[in-house]
Amino acid sequence: MTARPRLSAAVLVLAALAGYPPSARPVDPKTGRRIDAEIEKNRAEIVKIRRFIHMNPELSNREFETARVIAARLQPLGFDVRTGVAKTGVVAVLRGGGAGPAVAVRADMDALPVQEATGLPYKSLNPGVMHACGHDVHSAIVLGTALVLNALKSDLKGTVTFLFQPAEEGAPEGEEGGADLMVREGALDDPPVSAVFGFHVWPETLGLVLVAPGNVTAAADSFTITVKGRSAHGARPQEGLDAVVIAAEIVTALQTIVSRTTDPTDPAVLTVGTINGGARRNIIAERVVLEGTVRTLSETNQKKVRRLMESVVRNITAIYGAGYEFEYKPGTPSVFNNPELAAAMTPTLVRLLGKDKVVEWQPQMIAEDFAFLARKAPGFYFFLGVRGPGQAATPLHSPGFSPDESAIPLGIRILSHLVLDALEGQSALLSGGAGH
Ligand SMILES: [Zn+2]
Ligand SMILES: [Zn+2]
Repeated sequence: MTARPRLSAAVLVLAALAGYPPSARPVDPKTGRRIDAEIEKNRAEIVKIRRFIHMNPELSNREFETARVIAARLQPLGFDVRTGVAKTGVVAVLRGGGAGPAVAVRADMDALPVQEATGLPYKSLNPGVMHACGHDVHSAIVLGTALVLNALKSDLKGTVTFLFQPAEEGAPEGEEGGADLMVREGALDDPPVSAVFGFHVWPETLGLVLVAPGNVTAAADSFTITVKGRSAHGARPQEGLDAVVIAAEIVTALQTIVSRTTDPTDPAVLTVGTINGGARRNIIAERVVLEGTVRTLSETNQKKVRRLMESVVRNITAIYGAGYEFEYKPGTPSVFNNPELAAAMTPTLVRLLGKDKVVEWQPQMIAEDFAFLARKAPGFYFFLGVRGPGQAATPLHSPGFSPDESAIPLGIRILSHLVLDALEGQSALLSGGAGH
């Protein structure tokens, strides 16, 4: 997992060896023109749906209206639609006219507890809730792709599963949800898919696609450390066990784990995000609770950081004779692009956009639960630039995040071609068209 291959000739050779012909039998120009015509036909409606979703954002596991709108659009077209998957998720299966493999495309649907400050005419009508991560755009792009591919259905060699997933940002406390639950509820099983595609809008130049060939995002784990001391009068420290001082030492020592024990070329982050404890200014604190997150790309680092953290906490509390609790919860794993699939699909991106628009990207230390889907089937995940000309680079999750809507038809075009090329390529493989 630590190796992060460059998107290069080496990867393409690897792909050929693995049997994925790079962009085998690419979409013919006639099909390309049909895709463009279908996008144009559906463009206004898709933008309208995106704006409706943007105006009516729903938090994780509460995407009732969003799911209803999506399911209602696809059901009458003959898609095999399952609703209520992983609480509010929608799984819509399109069976093509020809025999072939199955691939999946995923969008997430949830919004964030952010007060929108874009000033857009179609800004959120739901106070304190906003599509600040662009999942409204994801839903619109995948819905648009479903409409386009439905129009080409008779020529489609295989099956496409469209996933509209709840709770990518994390299920509310005490609830399950997201991609993990979608997988457990069989979203990729009927029919079993041989590739799954995902993407995220990104505040980079519109028209750019960013591809990280190996690790795409980090594993995101969480921890809670409780330091158990003994309270005493603030003027009589000799009678207590000061949990504040012990916690301070722990915070400082934790910083050396990443800086002094992990390989600098294999990134890791350890952040203590909250520190709470003590009762009053003149009382020695009995208890301090530290909470934080650990981000790693490799399993080696994930295990190492966890082990060393517990050792730091155990040993520092032991020096003072204090007690502790150490709780470490592995969270979303790292998204890892299947190298063969990435190499097979990158030529499609280059063909569509031009070489200079397909940028090799470094792994990001954010979390993305697409990881669970990409563990179930070979995955390909990319970032789509949505910063329009003259727009500031407003980050994801901020109240001003406002993707340029011309990314929507572009996203539909990219996904439609990726799916068609993947079905063609894999059909060729299945029928023995390309040898292993
Ligand atoms: Zn997000
Ligand atoms: Zn997101």
